[in-house]
Amino acid sequence: MNYPQTKLPNVGLTIFSKMSALAAQKGAINLSQGFPDYQGPQALLDSVAKQVGAGMNQYAPMSGMPTLRRLIADKVERLYGRSVNPETEICVTPGATEALFSAIASTVRAGDEVIIFDPAYDSYRPAVELNGGIPISLPLLPPSFAIDWDALRAVITPRTRMIIINTPHNPTGQAWSADDLDALEAAVRGTDILILSDEVYEHLVFDGIEHQSMSRRAALAERSFIVSSFGKTYHVTGWRVGYCVAPAALMSEFQKVHQYVTFNTHTPLQCAIADFMEQQPDYPLGLGDFFSTKRDRLAQGLSGSRFKLLSSSGTYFQLVDYTAINNLPDDEFVLWLLEEAGVAAIPLSPFYQNRLQTGCVRLCFAKQNDTIDRALERLSKI
Ligand code: PMP
Ligand code: GLN
Repeated sequence: MNYPQTKLPNVGLTIFSKMSALAAQKGAINLSQGFPDYQGPQALLDSVAKQVGAGMNQYAPMSGMPTLRRLIADKVERLYGRSVNPETEICVTPGATEALFSAIASTVRAGDEVIIFDPAYDSYRPAVELNGGIPISLPLLPPSFAIDWDALRAVITPRTRMIIINTPHNPTGQAWSADDLDALEAAVRGTDILILSDEVYEHLVFDGIEHQSMSRRAALAERSFIVSSFGKTYHVTGWRVGYCVAPAALMSEFQKVHQYVTFNTHTPLQCAIADFMEQQPDYPLGLGDFFSTKRDRLAQGLSGSRFKLLSSSGTYFQLVDYTAINNLPDDEFVLWLLEEAGVAAIPLSPFYQNRLQTGCVRLCFAKQNDTIDRALERLSKI
């Protein structure tokens, strides 16, 4: 038989899966794919066994456990001053990935344009394309990766359905300022453009910076799907629990897709997260210090090396410029580094639609101090 032509000709195994597999195969220190190599809080882990034992093992409500949705609403109000209705404006999803997909699938139609800032997280573009949308790339360049707001205004057309935002930003580690919110607000004023705001690293901001959630501005929140991930906040990326907040009219469309993509999210894990959020509501507020200490440890250890560090004000990623070492393209450099130093990193070019070479690779510092120190020993010899 003839199999159908691929719907995603430009998609292969993700760079994260590829580099983690290579790291395992070579026995390298894995600073590539973003995930912690240590346990999340013990009380959270213990609560899972408790929930399973207590029989929380059947389908959860489609939009998520009511207690968890209430706690999400409490958090959004406490941190960003926005009141959201847990019944109609919140949906818990198996990871932020599903939330991003469902937001796009429920609103983007064939021929709609979706503006994506490159470097961009890898799941946005395929989700747009699968739904017949046209990704419009706006490149951000090192070292600041700042948005050119005139360039944004220039690519907005009557066909622009959505702008995808990610702050704090993977892979650059840049976080938005209040001025960025002002500029976005001005750019979309008077239009029907939707915003998909990927805020999975909302609690991972450093040096006293405040996370600029779309929730902070009524004029942005009224048009936004805001996506977050408990995987990042509680160091449990494998649990696959995230959520989306959106105005009721958008959320009801979102749920029409969500209920047929996955229907609902792992019940005992939702209950355990809710339990932990009730016990320690301020846990996320300590994450900035926790991760910036790791960022600083990495920076200090690389200070005498040939790697040049770019600024990192959020996420658990650090970009390093390697051009003082050699001139390889970044996807070859990471293979060379794996062989030479036994450390796995992520190249930046796969995050750009045009595979732009910046001379930078990404290191993940969500690692035990011992892992960071062992990696530093190797990287400082390169
Ligand atoms: N967006 C960004 C920017 C990410 O880095 C990640 C992390 N994998 C995700 C979305 C997906 O989050 P989740 O693991 O909750 O699906
Ligand atoms: N978000 C993680 C990263 O940027 C990877 C998640 C994945 O492998 N899909 O490394």
